[in-house]
Amino acid sequence: MTKKTAKKEAGWNLDNSYARLPKSLFTLVHLNPVPSPKLIILNEVLALDLGLGVEILKSKSGIEIFAGNKSPEGAKPLAQAYAGHQFGHFTMLGDGRAMLLGEQITPRGHKYDIQLKGSGRTPYSRGGDGRAALGPMLREYIISEAMNALGIPTTRSLAVVTTGELVYRDEKLPGAILTRVASSHIRVGTFQYAAWWCSLEELRHLADYTIQRHYPDIELGDNRYLTLLQEVVKRQASLIAKWMMVGFIHGVMNTDNMAISGETIDYGPCAFMDTYAPETVFSSIDTRGRYAYINQPPIAMWNLARFAETLLPLLHDNKEEAIKIAEKALSEFPELYRCNWLTGMRGKLGLFNAEEEDETLIEDLLKIMYKYQADYTNTFRSLTLDEPLDSEMFNSPEFTQWQEKWKARLIRQQETSEASKELMKRSNPSVIPRNHRVEEAIEAAVKCEDYSVMNRLLMVLSQPYDYTAEQIEYIRPPEPSDCKYKTYCGT
Ligand code: AMP
Ligand code: MG
Repeated sequence: MTKKTAKKEAGWNLDNSYARLPKSLFTLVHLNPVPSPKLIILNEVLALDLGLGVEILKSKSGIEIFAGNKSPEGAKPLAQAYAGHQFGHFTMLGDGRAMLLGEQITPRGHKYDIQLKGSGRTPYSRGGDGRAALGPMLREYIISEAMNALGIPTTRSLAVVTTGELVYRDEKLPGAILTRVASSHIRVGTFQYAAWWCSLEELRHLADYTIQRHYPDIELGDNRYLTLLQEVVKRQASLIAKWMMVGFIHGVMNTDNMAISGETIDYGPCAFMDTYAPETVFSSIDTRGRYAYINQPPIAMWNLARFAETLLPLLHDNKEEAIKIAEKALSEFPELYRCNWLTGMRGKLGLFNAEEEDETLIEDLLKIMYKYQADYTNTFRSLTLDEPLDSEMFNSPEFTQWQEKWKARLIRQQETSEASKELMKRSNPSVIPRNHRVEEAIEAAVKCEDYSVMNRLLMVLSQPYDYTAEQIEYIRPPEPSDCKYKTYCGT
């Protein structure tokens, strides 16, 4: 086979536009080879979308690429510089264990970052080993793919390989590398870095690049940075509302973990809520509940304020004027979020049109769910199927009363009850990646090299709105002993 055909079959078609940005924004890096890489999982559907040849990716040469042992054709590996507020404290960060290989241009002309996560030390590693353990990389794979299937903007996962090396956390664990695919890895923290350590021209360069890459409809002109801010505010308002609607808790909404593209990024101690409780926190390090479920909208706004601060010199020459402009743009967030949330929640209750009292109707249901510790997903699932659960909540007088109001509200709209049921099916997932199921899949993979549990879970999670018979065993909430679930940081 000629070299040219091999390249064609692999399908790598990488651009390196990030490497053409000002040098202060990244560092070119060398590969850090690992001894014996093994492919654990490959996302074949995503590979095809990216224009990559599945067979070649599964072959030795493909696996060498996922392991960071060999560069794909056209790659220019680099580590990105960024800063960030971690739990409110500003720090210099950067890709300490990741490298961007380049941007794959797909057959449909879209461009996606191809990043290896867990690929070894970089100049931004600080004290870290640059590596990742298999469990957390599989966790990111499972949850990011589930989020995508739920219709929530997210980075994707192309592959996980084990490295043949052990990583040392609290215990010795198999090392692994995740190949992550993202519209880009530009974060609020990337702008924070540029605002602190780069020149104004470099910051402007980053902002123009971001506009071109993610908001190409923004017209050239003096107002373009304000429009950028407004558009990022809009995308985050929509994203966070989507998280809230499925009970997703990110867990570490630090500013370095908020993507300017509006995709969910950096799956660490994240999890889906089982029992409805607004104060739910999963991360063991989030002792004060900064990133609790109910705090996600205000924290998103806090992060956006940090983003807006970085843009001040681009918004107006006069700082006070710039602050006024930024504050006005930011002040749109709560109402934008509320509109997204209300529309989504109306869908969850089968409502097509808007009535003044809808917010109260929704809030009343949530209050009852909270009081009776109802399962969030299964409550909406059973309303969708019109199959009341034999639970304390469903048998309570408050719920019966609420249901009467809801039924009356449904009758007041023009759409048929069939249309309403269809809307509910599209809005209420039947399955979510429940923690105990995700943990079970990871444990089988890490401890027994049994990947069948994960593969079945992934299959079920890939059609969350289909209400199939195979999903039934996955809808069960955890046993009470599993409820005090905590995710630990050793990622
Ligand atoms: P995260 O908690 O994954 O958002 O990471 C926060 C920061 O720590 C980022 O700058 C990461 O690149 C860095 N980091 C996390 N784990 C490691 C590691 N094992 N080695 C080096 N840097 C790391
Ligand atoms: Mg991060």
